[in-house]
Amino acid sequence: MSALTDLIYAGSNAVAGLTEGAVNDAIAKYGADQSVAFPDTAYFLPTIYAATGVKVKTLGDLPACVGVLKSLITNKEELGDALNAGLATAVGAEIIEALKFVGGNDPYAQDSGIGFVPDPVIRSLGVPLVTGDIPGVAVVLGKSENAQDVADIVKDYQSKGIMTFLVGDVIEQVMECGVKVGLEFRVVPLGHDVTSVIHVVTVAIRAALIFGNIQPGDLAGLLAYTKERVPAFVNTFGPLDEVTVSAGAGAIALGFPVIADIALGDMQVPGALESETDHKETVKKSLELRHIKIKVTELPIPVAFASAFEGEIIRKADMYAEFSSHKNTTCELVVMKPLNEVEDHKITLIGPDIDQGEAPVELPLATVVEVAGEKMQADFESVIERKIHNWYNYMEGVMHTGQRNLFRIRISKEAYEKGLRLKDFAEVLYTMIKNDFDTVVDKCQVTMYTDVDKAAEILNDVAMPVYNRRDERLESLTDESVDCFYTCILCQSFAPSHCCVVTPERLGLCGAVSWLDAKATKELTPTGPCQPISKEGCLDEKKGIYPDADRMVEEATQGAVTHVTLYSIMEDPMTSCGCFECICGIMPEANGVVIVNREYKGLTPTGMTFGELASMTGGGVQTPGFMGHGRHFISSKKFISAEGGVARIVWMPKELKDDVAARLNKTAKELYGIDNFADMICDETIASDPEGVVAFLTEKGHPALTMAEIM
Ligand code: SF4
Ligand code: ZN
Repeated sequence: MSALTDLIYAGSNAVAGLTEGAVNDAIAKYGADQSVAFPDTAYFLPTIYAATGVKVKTLGDLPACVGVLKSLITNKEELGDALNAGLATAVGAEIIEALKFVGGNDPYAQDSGIGFVPDPVIRSLGVPLVTGDIPGVAVVLGKSENAQDVADIVKDYQSKGIMTFLVGDVIEQVMECGVKVGLEFRVVPLGHDVTSVIHVVTVAIRAALIFGNIQPGDLAGLLAYTKERVPAFVNTFGPLDEVTVSAGAGAIALGFPVIADIALGDMQVPGALESETDHKETVKKSLELRHIKIKVTELPIPVAFASAFEGEIIRKADMYAEFSSHKNTTCELVVMKPLNEVEDHKITLIGPDIDQGEAPVELPLATVVEVAGEKMQADFESVIERKIHNWYNYMEGVMHTGQRNLFRIRISKEAYEKGLRLKDFAEVLYTMIKNDFDTVVDKCQVTMYTDVDKAAEILNDVAMPVYNRRDERLESLTDESVDCFYTCILCQSFAPSHCCVVTPERLGLCGAVSWLDAKATKELTPTGPCQPISKEGCLDEKKGIYPDADRMVEEATQGAVTHVTLYSIMEDPMTSCGCFECICGIMPEANGVVIVNREYKGLTPTGMTFGELASMTGGGVQTPGFMGHGRHFISSKKFISAEGGVARIVWMPKELKDDVAARLNKTAKELYGIDNFADMICDETIASDPEGVVAFLTEKGHPALTMAEIM
């Protein structure tokens, strides 16, 4: 037997023994009926569920799983067999980690790692993964001889947008070297035991179940999915023990190459297990092995610029300067101009920069970006303008919230000390617009006003009229008023048979693609993910049945979906990929629907959580009675109009209800003449059990109770 397979089998046999012992101990202590589950997932013990279809719910379910685990360890010489033993180690690790949660424990409460990654987090990663914002996933494991080396590697991944999971002492090593960690920084400490690596493995596995429509028990389909669609790889630091090697074999079985920082000699398996002893080469080698290409944008600014910094929060104590509409005049505007009125790359600051004052510097800020191009259209102004929010947040040490004339920008002391000034913000806008919108923007100039009077003048005389003009345009943009809709198949890299139909009144279910965005995408990449759908020959306006929508969806899904209604939840509803902001499901007792957003953790009156409802649909499958959608769609006149419209909404979490109330009330008034409709909708502060909800609806005279039977 080769040295490698020897090590793998030694490791998986050791883990099998540990697992069996741990299961027996747990049953002896708690009894076989004791429930066992990870927090906030609808996929049980995900590795076991995906690989075998078995839904582990109690400790009594585990001995059979240990049996399966042992059967995977054949001790045969072939590498393929040894990789199966690696999967056995994964199953063992999953069981050992799950046992830590038995009895309501939170084993990670005291750890610097987060342990299990909840389903909603995985769903929220869908869009950044498909857009390439997160171009890959790194697992960094072990303990480096030199802390600074591993910190540099992780920082490099961070600057490239790669999502990095840390296991073992590398966690403290990178933190000591000042790397910012946490989900919001895309550097995620998992835990210190080597078994905690399973928590990133189940992210990949649940992605296959959530987005890929892989059926539980289809092991071959699962392995093909993770290999082809999850761009993950592993970097190990320090000496490798047998358990780590067998866990690595599990990673290889899933298609994730392992790069070790020690000399493995002839234990190397080209493309799957390789040595890279020079830490300066680790990142390059890893990306090459996993075929990950990084889009680099060279920006002449003194701080890092990467999507990984998008979630960074800057607290008052760390703040050097602030531009806040609560205190000063603010506005951000992108407007199109004739070509001869724009001087390319002209950057002007009118008023003081942030270095002319004492911290905290508080100034007004009016920014006007003028763009010109043969193919530029007024409709694209807002599409570009909305990106300002993302781009500013990509700067390390900058936080941006809001848009238009209501926003707040904070600049950290650290960023200021590195030399960040306002002209750098203008450079970011210029470079990114020329990068991302090159098809429509030929010239771009940026003017920033921090002068009190000038800023006010710009807001009132230049920006407000444009915002008002746009609002009127948006108001008049209805499904009836346009002559085409658009497909969006961006999510097909994860959900191969999913296609969104985007209309003015129904944005993409991720919430990130409006009809205007889709239109701009078509212009920017003519053969790209968004293609026009003709509205000709409409068969049913109320349900939203269009022959060309059927044809385009059938084509886009390679025949997987042949009929789609745009406004029905019961009849050929639109498919879901998995990254929807909200999920809507029928509540038969109330003759209506409940809607729950990804952030809500509690139970809904259907008896299911967001995660459980979400698991009922996804992967590009049509599931009558369940529908994923964007937040904004809730107040649309087209929201399940086939079933009677928004009057069917009987329950939402309070936060969501408050967020949409104003627009929803307006829609209900227009459609049914009902005032303050949101007040008739139940929420968790009133009741979440079916009887309580129905009692509340009855008291309020909610319209759903007297509508036609929904099913
Ligand atoms: Fe994915 Fe649909 Fe959003 Fe496009 S519109 S990114 S397909 S969810
Ligand atoms: Zn999606």
